[in-house]
Amino acid sequence: MGVRKIDLTLCTGCGICVDECPMDVFRMDDGSNKAFIKYLRDCQSCFICERECPEDAIYCLPTFERRIPDPW
Ligand code: SF4
Ligand code: SF4
Repeated sequence: MGVRKIDLTLCTGCGICVDECPMDVFRMDDGSNKAFIKYLRDCQSCFICERECPEDAIYCLPTFERRIPDPW
């Protein structure tokens, strides 16, 4: 789950992230016409969104955050 945040002061609502994300994580907010992270759990940390956003509005963490299971 690498994607973390969309800076709404930068987002212009172009929809590129919605079109480009292979895991269909983003949606457009009808009211504000800006993107939001709808299905965070589906993110596979490919960083396409961060790379493709023309406004540099999307921030991703460079690591998977899957919890390591406790030993048993
Ligand atoms: S690609 Fe960037 S500017 Fe375009 S809708 Fe997504 S977050 Fe907003
Ligand atoms: S990092 Fe990849 S899978 Fe995750 S939201 Fe961005 S484009 Fe989608």
